[in-house]
Amino acid sequence: MKALRKMRPARGANLESVPVPTPGPIEVLVRVRAASICGTDLHIYGWDRWSASRINTPMTFGHEFCGYIEKVGSEVTSVKPGDFVSAEMHVNCGHCRPCRMGQPHVCQNVKIIGIDADGCFAEYLIIPIRNIWKIDPAIPERYAAILDPLGNAVHTVLAGEIAAQNVLVTGAGPIGLMAITIARACGAAMVFATEINPHRRELAKQMGADVALDPTQSNVVEQLREATDGAGADVLLEMSGNPAAIHQGFQMLRQGGRASLLGIPSDPVTFDLVNDVIFKGATVQGIYGRKMFETWVQMTELLKHGRLNLDPLFKEHLPIEDFEQAFSLLQSGQAGKILLYPNGVNA
Ligand code: NAD
Ligand code: ZN
Repeated sequence: MKALRKMRPARGANLESVPVPTPGPIEVLVRVRAASICGTDLHIYGWDRWSASRINTPMTFGHEFCGYIEKVGSEVTSVKPGDFVSAEMHVNCGHCRPCRMGQPHVCQNVKIIGIDADGCFAEYLIIPIRNIWKIDPAIPERYAAILDPLGNAVHTVLAGEIAAQNVLVTGAGPIGLMAITIARACGAAMVFATEINPHRRELAKQMGADVALDPTQSNVVEQLREATDGAGADVLLEMSGNPAAIHQGFQMLRQGGRASLLGIPSDPVTFDLVNDVIFKGATVQGIYGRKMFETWVQMTELLKHGRLNLDPLFKEHLPIEDFEQAFSLLQSGQAGKILLYPNGVNA
């Protein structure tokens, strides 16, 4: 089969021919229909400090996908060949303390398919059966390919009260854009976004933001305060990982507000703990991955009842052979979610 692989610890990737893997007793083999490229894949492709410390080559990357069950292991009874599926790519151990205490999304021994094991930029991949998620037939294929990042956004938005709240999303990358739509669908009052890229500010409005602010303007904090009767946002959803955005986000958060942090800064960030958290009485939460499987249930409900319009995110649909074009498009910051088709676009 074709597989897009990191063959050595350096920039780039190669489309290789490798054997189709065989599923173990509690695993399934999935024929990939569409795979989407994540910011993390861009880091792996470019080979930054994080990739060098985490990835063992050779390996097949990619972790956002949908596909059809091709073959099931001897003990698998819950799915059959032909079923349309996606998967939770964080494989938890099941025996550490967080796993035992109902928090498998923060398993201390987590392995990520597409990072620690061969991923979905291939014609086929192996998934443990308990990580498979069957897709409701009402959900369009292109949406099914991005459930992984959509789940990050759903997890963050629904990590606290959202209905009738004034919400600020800092960073309108793909996940921030999804969060805007989700906050709207879940009954937020006003949705504000900050984003340095004008193209993405435009997308933020298309996705349902009431106000898309340029964070480099001198009076953005005042603009948001004015629009919220001087209070500030009730909820901060941090989706940029940028230190300036984190700082500004906390300045815009009201006294007693909720800050849910998903964005990943590349270096340690300094922080005004006294004014931004303690005196503010803020509730600050780290958000990692998706809750297993509460987030998957929530996003299925939102999608199958047509509550989320994610169409502005999609433009490019490419065969996997065009991966170089796909990665440079994503690098440019002009693309939304790019879908790659390992078995052909029209297969
Ligand atoms: P992305 O890099 O495409 O989006 C980040 C956006 O923030 C970009 O559009 C960028 O222009 C914008 N930005 C940069 N500086 C800004 C500033 N000062 N003010 C406002 N906006 C600013 O990333 P994404 O794929 O949408 O993911 C969002 C973040 O979530 C990333 O940091 C990613 O690493 C992280 N992430 C975390 C998890 C998790 O489990 N915690 C999972 C997936 C992704
Ligand atoms: Zn565990």
